[in-house]
Amino acid sequence: MSNNNYFSGLFFGIKSLLIGLGVTMKEFFTRKITEQYPENRKELKMFDRFRGRLIMPHNENNEHKCIGCGLCQMACPNGSIKVTTEMLEAEDGKKKRSLVKYEYDLGCCMFCELCITACPQGAIEFCTDFENAVFDRAKLVQQLNKPGSKVAEKKPVAKPVAPAAAKPVTEAKPVAPAAAEPATEAKPAAPAAAKPAAPAESAEAPVEKKESNPETPAAV
Ligand code: SF4
Ligand code: SF4
Repeated sequence: MSNNNYFSGLFFGIKSLLIGLGVTMKEFFTRKITEQYPENRKELKMFDRFRGRLIMPHNENNEHKCIGCGLCQMACPNGSIKVTTEMLEAEDGKKKRSLVKYEYDLGCCMFCELCITACPQGAIEFCTDFENAVFDRAKLVQQLNKPGSKVAEKKPVAKPVAPAAAKPVTEAKPVAPAAAEPATEAKPAAPAAAKPAAPAESAEAPVEKKESNPETPAAV
């Protein structure tokens, strides 16, 4: 190995070492995002978009939004949802579908969120719970509607009274200035076609002069 090759290799190695140390020092002083799980279990906060498991939110009156249409069940590719409904007769005599049982199998859910997308009521969503492991698979099948719950009645929304539309002020139509009648232009008198003056017969016609024929004998 020549001296030139030896020193070029040495400097190349030192340069690589310094670049690596630079990256290490940069990461040493940046803010750490690594979670020390499970030591920080109590204060650990998952990201809002984390999909832990499906839930059906209920309000303080134990009411949910599910109308039992079954669209989420049809949208689920894994058959993780089973919706059981019954038909009830309302006060006005109309029959209405009512949710009896909403079963969700966490064990075969693949967290695709197709069920949430299909729901027209926004009745289900993912929560950020984790550590859902159990020893019995049957415990992964959960009933999402709480016992005794019912669908929240939609309150009729009072239509805001529309302010009377101000009538547009009828604008006075600007009086159109009287159209100035175009001055009748005196038609230029057509130059009288100068009729060729008929030659005055009397004037120009050769006057036939009866000349007495001196040779004609006068009648006696
Ligand atoms: S997230 Fe996907 S797999 Fe899970 S219940 Fe909904 S549709 Fe089914
Ligand atoms: S959760 Fe939504 S899509 Fe599923 S049955 Fe209830 S209203 Fe229908």
